[in-house]
Amino acid sequence: MREGGSGGFEPDAVHAKYLAERDKRLVPGRADIRDLSTDARFAELRADPFTPYRERPAVADDVDVVIVGGGMAGVLAGAHLRTHGVERIRIIDQAGGIGGTWYWNRYPGVMCDVESYIYLPMLEELGYVPTQRYASGEEIRLHLQAIADRYDLDAPALFHTGVTRAEWDEEAARWRIRTDRRDEITSRYYVLAVGILNLLKLPAIPGMETFAGSSFHTARWDYGHTGGGPGEPLTKLGDEVVGLIGTGATGIQCLPPLAAAAKHVYVFQRTPSAVGVRGNRTTAPEFADRLTPGWQQERMDNFQAIMLGRSVEEDLTDDGWTRHFASAHHPPRRKDMTIEEIMLAAEENDFGIMEAHRRRVDELVADPEVAELLKPYYRYLCKRPCFHDEYLEAFNRPNVTLVDCPAGIDEVTARGPVVAGQQYEVDCLIYGTGFEGELTPLARRAGHEIVGRGGVSLAQKWADGAASLFGMMTRGFPNMFIMPAPAQQAVVTVNYTQSAILGASFIGDLVGALEQRQAGAFDVSAEAEERWSQKIIDSFIDASSVMAACTPSRLNLEGNPQAMKPRNGNYGRGLGDYFKYRAVLEQWLADGRLEGLELDERSARSARS
Ligand code: NDP
Repeated sequence: MREGGSGGFEPDAVHAKYLAERDKRLVPGRADIRDLSTDARFAELRADPFTPYRERPAVADDVDVVIVGGGMAGVLAGAHLRTHGVERIRIIDQAGGIGGTWYWNRYPGVMCDVESYIYLPMLEELGYVPTQRYASGEEIRLHLQAIADRYDLDAPALFHTGVTRAEWDEEAARWRIRTDRRDEITSRYYVLAVGILNLLKLPAIPGMETFAGSSFHTARWDYGHTGGGPGEPLTKLGDEVVGLIGTGATGIQCLPPLAAAAKHVYVFQRTPSAVGVRGNRTTAPEFADRLTPGWQQERMDNFQAIMLGRSVEEDLTDDGWTRHFASAHHPPRRKDMTIEEIMLAAEENDFGIMEAHRRRVDELVADPEVAELLKPYYRYLCKRPCFHDEYLEAFNRPNVTLVDCPAGIDEVTARGPVVAGQQYEVDCLIYGTGFEGELTPLARRAGHEIVGRGGVSLAQKWADGAASLFGMMTRGFPNMFIMPAPAQQAVVTVNYTQSAILGASFIGDLVGALEQRQAGAFDVSAEAEERWSQKIIDSFIDASSVMAACTPSRLNLEGNPQAMKPRNGNYGRGLGDYFKYRAVLEQWLADGRLEGLELDERSARSARS
């Protein structure tokens, strides 16, 4: 992709075009969803197509730590706890195995567009080097499985099991955990590693329930229907017309293999993604040969520094994230600029990046009308960017038709979607419609009631927003940890692995320290929680005026950026300052006073009994 000169940047014309594109999409009900936790007609779309459900006797036991979630966060938390000598760890997950997002998302073409050498955790510990610059979902899932095996987390885990309730038992100084398989487990520590985008989102399009063909969400790919498997051609679609709804990071990845297999694919596009170069390649043997101890942390920190706009000697990752995402969020500026000049320069810089993406569409898509519809007209920072080398080219195939529907799909009939009065007849309808986002509170994502001291639930306590120490512990919920997540008073990292490692190592270190001093239950002091929450509120930057001009998306809360609560912000401005946050955690642990925690020494004996 040619780099983004911003020639032709006329602010008024650009504003008018972007706002017009936004307004086409700001239609009532655009974010309405089917609530799969209550809507029985669609609830089966959440079922696990990958691992058969097996009956097992209910478990009744007492452990050191229960971790809810066997994805990257849960596995890393478990691994770090193990390195601190914690013995009895039970991961509980609704999935049939380890992997979290990589367990569920096995759609064809699934991969991670964050570089594998920084995304796959614990590469040095496991002596593993990913086979490609951007790893497939299957390689990532198997790697997480390898970590789970290395730290003996898989065998004691309870899969296909949902926690229904967790309640702090003051007397026993333990969490009492019940599951939908009648397990009753007590645990000294409770770790919520439930994931961020863990609830699949099914839109509320009228008539969906009347569709007569097969339908499924990309996070539950039905290989029984399509044939094939992850990384393998789809063998059963040769006679089928497929409708793919959604052109986000998922939709763009699964289109090329679908197009290669199906008789015809209709791609229903509400908003075009900005699709940059991916540039995948096989890992060269010399790459592994050159690695020296500590390389992975160094590479992650290099990436993270660039994401935070810091200058580095060398861009080790050198991809669309470090070039475009970093530049859009930290545009070049001179010292003597006024606020207005800074804002204008940022817009011009962003325009240049988007122009490069729009030119890429022209270069790759043969039909100029289709190309025009595939061009994203909004600021780069408005939506999560995408990276792919085969998506745009797929529209040159005679069996792929783009159906542009900025205001959404009118309805779904027994025969398929209807857009602008036109019926599209399909045999199979695939929802690549994403996941519930930042507005979904932790308690809903956790999917069970979490009841702390005095019978207060986490949902009640956080009803007006998060309140925590470090975004990981909250008063009234002793011995409970929450893995860092957006909108929860921690930090957000483009490479999610880095925030997962932060959380996991903090939990491991703190539990290790508590065990060493044979402490009883800990709780967060009211002052510490207030102080931390106030820091979050004080550093909150209200970006709603910029984000309100965006085409609606998860990042601007579907056109309601003002709905973001300051207390649900991050540590540091914007996405938060990862390095400062890490230093705060490290210093706090190193100083050993555990300032801000109240240790209940009386419970020490019962905790250990
Ligand atoms: P997204 O939310 O990004 O995209 C959902 C798509 O469905 C959008 O195109 C959306 O349109 C469309 N859509 C939603 N509702 C409707 C509707 N009612 N009618 C028509 N279209 C609709 O979900 P994804 O699964 O693509 O990605 C979710 C997140 O998962 C990403 O943001 C990313 O964080 C992560 N991910 C990461 C990957 C990686 O490589 N690292 C790969 C895949 C996912 P509109 O844009 O208009 O809302």
